[in-house]
Amino acid sequence: MKILGIDIGSRAVKIALLENDKLLKTDIISTMKFYRDYSRTREGEVMVDLEALGLNAVDQVISTGYGRNNIQVAGAKVINELKAHVYGALYQTRLQNFTLLDIGGQDFKVIKVENSIMTDMILNDKCAASSGRYLENMAAILEISLDDLKQKYENPVQLNTTCAVFGESELIGQIALGHSLDRLAAGINHSLYKRIKPQIQKLKSRTIVLTGGVAQNEAIIHYLKEDFDEVVIPQEPQLNGAIGCGYLGLIKERKMGNA
Ligand code: ADP
Repeated sequence: MKILGIDIGSRAVKIALLENDKLLKTDIISTMKFYRDYSRTREGEVMVDLEALGLNAVDQVISTGYGRNNIQVAGAKVINELKAHVYGALYQTRLQNFTLLDIGGQDFKVIKVENSIMTDMILNDKCAASSGRYLENMAAILEISLDDLKQKYENPVQLNTTCAVFGESELIGQIALGHSLDRLAAGINHSLYKRIKPQIQKLKSRTIVLTGGVAQNEAIIHYLKEDFDEVVIPQEPQLNGAIGCGYLGLIKERKMGNA
């Protein structure tokens, strides 16, 4: 049985096709491109063009979204994003006890998982300065790419403003003081980490599993490893929610004896 998981994020749509516990195909498409080229909206539902995505014979589609934008995909079962991310981490890590930190384009989530069950969570979707988009905006101000920004962690310039908009003015002030680009870039990564760390500490376990697009940021991984015992990055951190959709579908079908 082929089950397709779709995670419609603020910056990217993630797609994962599972068949009998095996990940057959994955894709990451910018959210803009997904709406423009791979779907259309009819009567409030998103009709996904599976053929255009190169996906023909799919038995079931399970989707999730972010925050209030939990979009109804036609023919799909929509599941809560926290559930999707927990199941993604269970599938990818095969761990049963951990704290999941997912940092996406517009939010971060800290979820405590004990014996494979979510027991507590903190969701932050109100603060733009605590999201991946903050890193993108600040890299644009430094006129460097996200790929350059994500490697810098040493000797960070201290950035203390907690607001994404005023943070830009603070960064410009620090540029004027003549700090090196490397230290400024490290300062941006560190300022995001500083805002998230207290929330991880509230729900920490021995193992921190890091997912979401920002799990590809080497500086954030470096800071986490300095502070926590064990940091696990699954093979496909950005696809975690989509994989979780597919995995949850598979478990349900198995319970019904269909897979
Ligand atoms: P969403 O689910 O909201 O679309 P994602 O989990 O896809 O968000 O994460 C998007 C964020 O991930 C971006 O804002 C960016 O900061 C970060 N990101 C995306 N690709 C990369 C990459 N190759 N390297 C480092 N960071 C990345």
